[in-house]
Amino acid sequence: MIEFLTNYFNYVIDELFHLSWNNYLFWLIGISLIFWMLEIFFPWRKDQKMFRKDFWLDAFYMFFNFSLFSLIGFTAISDIVVQFFNDGLKKIGIDNLAFFHIESFPYWSQLLILFVVRDFIQYFIHRLLHRIPFLWNFHKVHHSVKEMGFAAHLRFHWMETVVYRTLEYIPLALIGFGINDFILVHLFSLAVGHFNHSNLKINLGPLKYVFNNPQMHIWHHSKKLPERFGANFGLTLSLWDYIFKTDYIPREGKNIELGFEGDEDFPKDFINQEIYPIKLKNE
Ligand SMILES: [Zn+2]
Ligand SMILES: [Zn+2]
Repeated sequence: MIEFLTNYFNYVIDELFHLSWNNYLFWLIGISLIFWMLEIFFPWRKDQKMFRKDFWLDAFYMFFNFSLFSLIGFTAISDIVVQFFNDGLKKIGIDNLAFFHIESFPYWSQLLILFVVRDFIQYFIHRLLHRIPFLWNFHKVHHSVKEMGFAAHLRFHWMETVVYRTLEYIPLALIGFGINDFILVHLFSLAVGHFNHSNLKINLGPLKYVFNNPQMHIWHHSKKLPERFGANFGLTLSLWDYIFKTDYIPREGKNIELGFEGDEDFPKDFINQEIYPIKLKNE
């Protein structure tokens, strides 16, 4: 365990001070700039401003959530958790939980499996965020968006990172995926996530039944929904919503009201949004 921690510490330091770390940040900036430019030149809602409502709040959330937690902070913690879990399993005589040896597959298919399995798990985690009141109070931050744009993608409470990474990472790491695979898949999901929240209309044709898109995800953010616990939960793939019948696009959602019941009283700034769920608990 100590050897593992030392190795892991060296790995994190190495990542921090070498190009690869900067690359992730460049990827985020690059992907964001592409979607921002597309929104400016080919907007779906033509009257939406270049610096829409809460643009800077969302830009701040974007860097806060992406850099601090999703890649360095929590991956480190969850990898240690996985190690503990594996050590525990070894003690009771289980060496490998995997049903098949993923490492013998071609690399592209490993990434594809990781992507699909992870997105499937995330679909259910997202449903939990809407279903369980305790989690919903954290998820309200994401649903407090009143005007949609690419940067709204990463407006969420850091607790969501904890919930998602814990529930998705442990089973996937047990199958045998490493951190580098995660980062590659994470970057792809990041691009599609930016797309889902963007002010764009790009016709995907029949692919809309596979990939999430702005015309579908805007209904996830609709203030009024027929189903109390929401619809269109898919993150990168819309496929799960069509399979589990949680899809909902009654008409074009271009100008629908976004938010949730009671969002008038929801805090408008970063600090108060962060402490909102904790404050509620103490009331
Ligand atoms: Zn949601
Ligand atoms: Zn969203």
